Amino acid sequence: MPVYLCIVLLPLTLSVLSGWPARSFWDELASAAGMVAFAILLAEFLLSGRFRLISGGVGMDVTMRFHQLLARSALVFVVVHPFLYTTPFAWSLPFDPTRELTLAQPGYALAAGALAWILLPAFVLISIARAELFKRYENWRLGHGLGAAVIAGATWYHATEAGRYASAPILYWTWTGLLVIALASLGSVYVFRPLYQLRRPWRVASIKRAAERTWQVDLTPDGHDGLAYRAGQFVWLNIGHSAFSLSENPFSIASAPSQKGMLSFVIKELGDFTSTLGEIPEGARAYVDGPFGHLTLDKHPAPGIALIAGGVGIAPMLSILRELGHNGDRRPVTLVYGNRSAAQIVAGDELTEWAARPGNELVHVLSEPMDGWTGKTGMVDRALIAGCFGKDEHRAWVYVLCGPPAMMSGVEKTLIELGVAPENILSERFSYD
Ligand SMILES: Cc1cc2nc3c(=O)[nH]c(=O)nc-3n(C[C@H](O)[C@H](O)[C@H](O)COP(=O)(O)OP(=O)(O)OC[C@H]3O[C@@H](n4cnc5c(N)ncnc54)[C@H](O)[C@@H]3O)c2cc1C
Repeated sequence: MPVYLCIVLLPLTLSVLSGWPARSFWDELASAAGMVAFAILLAEFLLSGRFRLISGGVGMDVTMRFHQLLARSALVFVVVHPFLYTTPFAWSLPFDPTRELTLAQPGYALAAGALAWILLPAFVLISIARAELFKRYENWRLGHGLGAAVIAGATWYHATEAGRYASAPILYWTWTGLLVIALASLGSVYVFRPLYQLRRPWRVASIKRAAERTWQVDLTPDGHDGLAYRAGQFVWLNIGHSAFSLSENPFSIASAPSQKGMLSFVIKELGDFTSTLGEIPEGARAYVDGPFGHLTLDKHPAPGIALIAGGVGIAPMLSILRELGHNGDRRPVTLVYGNRSAAQIVAGDELTEWAARPGNELVHVLSEPMDGWTGKTGMVDRALIAGCFGKDEHRAWVYVLCGPPAMMSGVEKTLIELGVAPENILSERFSYD
């Protein structure tokens, strides 16, 4: 956070230190709003740049939520920016009979600013309505990346040509440097990372049904020694496309790091890629970008571990409990595993075997149980959580959550109310919306 604030406030600070004579309060405020907005926009590229340094501590879902909220904050600054100026006018604009908007600026610089000013609100609105507007996620990704680059380029031109303070070399080069860093982080996702992946390809070893509408996908490294990751992390997986393709999706790794080499995933059918998993032939080429994510126990030496999974949220839990088993970790572990029906339970036999070992407890919960079901029924809610964990466990254990957004929000709230410290709750959402 302090680093983020430094980046966003750097151009403004340099302007204040530049020693230019102050203009009217409103003119200075207008410039400040424009500068902060542009700096936030450039920092957005870093937030979505898959940098472990940035998302490693809080998780990719929180990072992307931050990205969305900051885009909306920048939008407010951008919208008010031209209306705050009181500077006398050099020439009027055709759409501005009041001459309120017209500034003493070069025409192209003003046009670039106007372009960015129009594009940004459209861009944010399109992002909010993404699911309704775009049938294919990849098309939205492409438009989002290109659109962001165009807005950043237009704003850079506007800021450096029309901005009063950017006429000082230090600010000109600061904006230029920040733009280059922003575009380089875009390039890192779409060019540099794929180039690296080309040298470390994978092959599909097998794809088999793991449960109703759910597949287990196993990959083996092709000519390298695999991926170094921690149990609970995820990767962007691309199967059957060029390394530079936009067709890649985030999936948690379900295998354990100790299962050297091989990577295993548990994937639920949802959209265009996941619904075609059954058609992918063995031996298909795959690329893996990662690992990412903070759903890992390394920094949590708690005396006990609670794993709470809903549906396909079991994937990172499998990785964690497989790794705990391999390491001979003797801490008590309770896995609460919610599903709609028994047909959706993944790795049922393995989990039963795991639960038979001392210290392990497995709580299956079904919301639509079949006749004869003897396990828990209903939702993974407050009553269920309160019944599974006692006061000592609330105080000292670490809680790892992964599942549908509604379940996660409910369980997080419940755990806090039951006295679990927020730093002892690790969660990863499977959607950024
Ligand atoms: C950190 C993380 C871990 C995940 N782990 C698993 C897992 O272990 N098992 C599992 O079944 N699902 C997991 N998911 C969800 C999985 O990524 C989506 O279900 C999958 O991408 C859907 O792809 P599709 O092409 O079939 O559907 P689409 O219709 O293309 O996409 C459906 C939704 O998936 C999300 N999505 C698709 N592509 C991307 C992308 N490139 N980047 C970000 N989000 C995308 C979007 O929200 C989109 O609306 C995880 C998601 C995240 C964010």
